[in-house]
Parts: sequence; structure tokens; C-alpha cells
Amino acid sequence: MRILTLFLDGIGLGADDPLHNPFAVANTPNMHSLSNGLRWLARTGIQQSERAVFMPADARLDVAGRPQSGTGQAALLTGVNVPKKLGRHYGPKPDAATRSIISQHSLFLRLRDSGRSASLLTAYPARLQKDWQRGKTLRSSIQLADFVANGAHFGIDDIRQRRALTAEWTTEGWRRHLHLGDLPDYSPADAGRLLAKLSGSYDFAFHSHWMTDRIGHRGTLPQGVDLLERFDAVLGGLLEAWDDSAGLIVITSDHGNLEDLSTRRHTLNAVPTVVVGSRAADFARGYQRLTDFAPACKRMLQNDC
Ligand SMILES: [Zn+2]
Repeated sequence: MRILTLFLDGIGLGADDPLHNPFAVANTPNMHSLSNGLRWLARTGIQQSERAVFMPADARLDVAGRPQSGTGQAALLTGVNVPKKLGRHYGPKPDAATRSIISQHSLFLRLRDSGRSASLLTAYPARLQKDWQRGKTLRSSIQLADFVANGAHFGIDDIRQRRALTAEWTTEGWRRHLHLGDLPDYSPADAGRLLAKLSGSYDFAFHSHWMTDRIGHRGTLPQGVDLLERFDAVLGGLLEAWDDSAGLIVITSDHGNLEDLSTRRHTLNAVPTVVVGSRAADFARGYQRLTDFAPACKRMLQNDC
């Protein structure tokens, strides 16, 4: 039994609004194959099929205001209702109280302590890694949850050796913007197949993507549609290579944003949580909110010896 999580920052379940919601118009057959052919919208509700469970998860966690990444990601990866403890949603980076909760309760750490391997499959450029070391910038809650358990992150050599992926799945952005022409060039579908292969080396693997939130803040509808179609191609490669009897794929987020481009701010919407694999219904049992993610992962991985 293993779990591979694909995290997409800032995606919620919104209205069927083709002018403002990329999920209402994108051509994403692989995504829809996991929700009984339906689009990922608020009205889709819970969908169960032979291969997958599609369900909304609450990101507000009984705290007023708009959910944010710092506390939302921490809630996801600790199981602690971090916004409630702090009395507010906070982000994008975690504050000191959130960092302290992550350093005690990180799912990566807890799994490692119980003899399971857990890895963040996203690689980060050398300059960003240097900035973290110097304290010039803070890690996100997801990055910190991995770091407190593993003490290091994947970097450019791991991309070269195909041991990790960029946050954008393929190497196109790094080759173009970081002038790294020697990186292996592969398609989004190949990136999906690589995710399936890499997850075979870990009990718990997690990939973190953030561009969805960026487009929610600053982007256009066509950019949102392009990105979802790109993700759908990654998903296509992954689903084709995935052995449903060997593990679960979980797709989820920290808060809404991209699904409503009529506002530049995060939304109050529930986030999609999609579970793929023969034990998907087991994972989904009782699942209602962000804080249910870490306990469900632990339950699935620890009851399986
Ligand atoms: Zn944001």
C-alpha cells in the first residue's frame, strides 16, 4: 500500500460559470473520468465510481475569513485545526506558531517515526534552497513539513536523474527561465508516468504545484484553462501507469481561488478531494475537511503491514 498525493494550490469547487471558472470550460477528460464524467464544480457533490471517489472538503475549518495557504497546508499535513488554534487563517507562509505545530506533527515526520518512507517529490532551484538556508525567505508549510522529517529537498541533480519533478511537472519552465538547457525534456504525460514510477519507492509521496493559485490571483481564464489541460495530461499519464491495487492517488488543495476569476482573492469554497485506487472508499470514509487528510493517510498506511 502506498499513497501518492498531487497537491494543487488554490483550487476550489465553484459555480458553473464559463466566464470566470476554468473548471467549467477546460477540456479535461482524465479529470472527469474520476468524477463520473462530471466537471469539478460545487454542484458535483460526492461521486463514487469503480476507480475513484470524488468529494468536496471544507477548507474554512470553523474559522471566519478566507482560508490561506500557511494555515491550510499545515492543517492538511498535520491533521491539527491550525486556523482554529491561531484564531485566524494566515499565509501564504506559515507564522511562528504554525511552524511550531508543523515541526511537531508533520505527517512526513510521523510516518518516518513509524518506519514508513515519506518524500516531497518536488525539486527546488539552487537559489531558492540557498535563500531558505540563509533565512532570506521562509519555506511554505508543505516544504517545512517535508524538511522537518527529511532535512533536505530535491534539487536540480534530482531532476537530471529523474528522481524528482519540478513544481510545474515538466522541465519546460526551468529550461526556459533558468536557462538550464541540459535538463531532460519530457511531456506532461511522461511526467505523470514518472510520478507513478517514483511513488513506487516510497510509502508516501507528495507533489506540490502552486501555479494554480498564482493564476487565481493574477491570471486570465485562458491561462487557467491551459494549466488545467496541462494537468489533465499529467493525470492521463499517471492514471495509465498506476496500479490501482498497489496504492492510492489523492488529488487535493488548501483553499479555493482559481475557480473564481471574478475575484483576485481566495474563496470560501470547498476544495476537491479525489481518491483513486481499489481502496479509495476506505480512505474517503468520514472525510469532510482538510484536517481529515493526515489521519486518513496514517490509517491507510499503518493498517497495512
Ligand atoms: Zn494564494
